[in-house]
Amino acid sequence: MEILEKAPAKLNLSLDALFRHLDGDPEWKMVMTAIDLADYVHIQTSHSSSDIKVLTNTGFLPQDQRNLAFQAAKVLQSRFDIQEGVTITIDKRIPVSAGMGGGSADAGAVLRGLNQLWNLNLSLQQLAEIGLEIDSDVPFCVYSCPALVEGKGEKITPLGSLNPLWFVVAKPKASVSTPSILKQIDFSEIQHWDVQKVVTAIQNADWNTLTTCMGNSLEPITAQKYPEITRIKDKMLKFGAQAAQMSGTGPTVFGIAQTESRAQHIYNSLRGFCKEVYLVRPFNLMACSN
Ligand code: ATP
Repeated sequence: MEILEKAPAKLNLSLDALFRHLDGDPEWKMVMTAIDLADYVHIQTSHSSSDIKVLTNTGFLPQDQRNLAFQAAKVLQSRFDIQEGVTITIDKRIPVSAGMGGGSADAGAVLRGLNQLWNLNLSLQQLAEIGLEIDSDVPFCVYSCPALVEGKGEKITPLGSLNPLWFVVAKPKASVSTPSILKQIDFSEIQHWDVQKVVTAIQNADWNTLTTCMGNSLEPITAQKYPEITRIKDKMLKFGAQAAQMSGTGPTVFGIAQTESRAQHIYNSLRGFCKEVYLVRPFNLMACSN
C-alpha cells in the first residue's frame, strides 16, 4: 500500500513567546499559515519487514532516527503495535533550517499518510497530540491550514482563509539552529505582540489591519546575528510589500502583497539580492480534503 502526501512549509504571521515551562519549552501564541511551497512524501508500507527506511533527494539530511519523518513512523508503529515496515521517500523542496518547518511538515505528512494506510482512524487532533512528541511545529503541520497555535504547539484553532494574499519568501544564505535561538529568549525583555488582533483581522478578512499588527518576538534575536535579515526586510518594504517579517526562528523573511502584480514586482526586484526567492500563495490542506 502506498500514498503520496503533500507536506507544505509554514510561515509565522505572528509569533509571541509568553513564558518558559518548567521543562524548558516555551509557551507559544502564534498565527501560522501553510504555503504552497511543499515537500512531497511518498509512503509505502510492507509486510516483509518491520524496518522503517527514509530516503531523501538531498544527500545531507539524516536518513535514520534523526529524521523527523522516521520518528513519526516509529511513534505510530510502537503505539499501535504495527508489525508492518515502511519506506518513506522525501522529495525535499522546502529550504532546510530556514524557519519554515520543513522537517515538521514531513513528520505531519507521515502521520496523516500512515493514519490512512494503517487504518488507525485517528482524528487530526489525536494526530496533533502524537505529533507534539516529535517537535512543537508538527501539530500545526498535521492541519496545515491558517491557524492560531497555542500551548507548546499542540492547541490548534483553524482560522479563515487567507486566499487574497500573496507571499514573497526569501531565504538568506545562513542556516539557523532553532534550539540555539530558543535558548536565548529573555521573556521579560522581548517584545510581546498582540496575536489576538491578527486572529480577529483574519476572521474579518481585514488585510490592512492584519499587515499592521503582525510581529515576531524572536526576530531581533536572530537578526542581531544575521543582519541580512533586516536588509532583506527593508528591501521587501521598499519594493512594495505591505508588511515584511522573519518566519519562526529564521532566517527566512517573507513579504505580503494583496495583488499578484505587486507580489511579482517584489519577487523580481528581490532576485537581484537573494538567490533563493519564492512567490507563493497560502495553502489550506483542510480546504483540499473537504
Ligand atoms: P522549525 O522552524 O520547525 O524549527 P526549520 O525550518 O528551522 O524548522 P528544518 O528544515 O525542519 O528547520 O530542519 C531543522 C533540522 O532538522 C536540520 O538540522 C535537519 O537535519 C533536521 N531534520 C530532521 N528531519 C528532517 C526533515 N525531514 N527535513 C528537514 N530537516 C530535517
